[in-house]
Amino acid sequence: VIRIHNMSGWIMWTVNGIFEDIGTVQDGIETISKPLTVVDRDGAQPLQVTQGEVRFENVHFHYGKDAGLIADLDLQVKPGEKIGLVGPSGAGKSTLMNILLRLYDLEGGRIAVDGQDIAGVTQESLRSQIGVVTQDTSLLHRSIRDNLLYGRPGASDEEMLEAVRKARADEFIPELVDGEGRVGYEALVGERGVKLSGGQRQRVAIARVLLKNAPILILDEATSALDSEAEAAIQESLETLMAGKTVIAIAHRLSTIARMDRLVVMDKGRIIETGTHEQLIARDGLYARLWKRQTGGFVGVEA
Ligand code: ATP
Repeated sequence: VIRIHNMSGWIMWTVNGIFEDIGTVQDGIETISKPLTVVDRDGAQPLQVTQGEVRFENVHFHYGKDAGLIADLDLQVKPGEKIGLVGPSGAGKSTLMNILLRLYDLEGGRIAVDGQDIAGVTQESLRSQIGVVTQDTSLLHRSIRDNLLYGRPGASDEEMLEAVRKARADEFIPELVDGEGRVGYEALVGERGVKLSGGQRQRVAIARVLLKNAPILILDEATSALDSEAEAAIQESLETLMAGKTVIAIAHRLSTIARMDRLVVMDKGRIIETGTHEQLIARDGLYARLWKRQTGGFVGVEA
């Protein structure tokens, strides 16, 4: 970067601009970054999502140091099913999502979406069909509008405003003013622009994913940046977001996923239990222990 500063102003601007974008996107809510080792195969076809079924078949994967991190993993997520992924820190929950996005290639087995091996489809098409809201919600150093349209650049203003309303981001966007006097949707986000709270960033993130309208969603502790009042307010928009989609949600606070169709409990890279909250409590295994630890022994879930 220091060497870049010695170059002409134009190159400095361009290169810094690119670095900035890559940096913010990598940390951002829409993971489009990828290790350079993952490339489209010759003749890769666009993924065609018809139902939204996700299937992990005998999957083996490790990052290098953790040999055999994920081994023999089988999981079928039915079209429209909502799965809560649970397990202790380091169990491999985020890793499972990383390999579903094909940020890394597998060592064995396959992951298929509607029967198509994700290793054989174009990465662009795979990532366009998966909406991601993660716990580190950082946005691009662009306008609010650009941030919203990022998932679907061709969307109309009407569609954008509808997504914003559903995510309840209409409560604050019109009021925003950046340092240079740009307001609302034109306000610049980031260091030189408006600073959004964690909850506001999350609502922009949810609006963006609503607009993207991807049939498959990954939610990684999606309400973590919100205080309890904001969390209650946004629960409804998350329900709207999830309606009719295939969802895999990771949560550390089990109360946020206890009502999902099915819970999948991971430990040390393996699935050790699956079932509904009630089934897993009755089973009295790892989930029941984690639940009791978080709730102080209370086993019910609020309706
Ligand atoms: P947490 O609940 O803390 O988020 P997790 O269940 O999501 O944990 P992962 O983040 O999937 O767990 O991590 C599983 C293992 O892989 C850990 O040992 C972690 O240190 C390692 N790991 C995660 N990401 C990488 C990476 N990019 N490169 C190398 N190792 C990694």
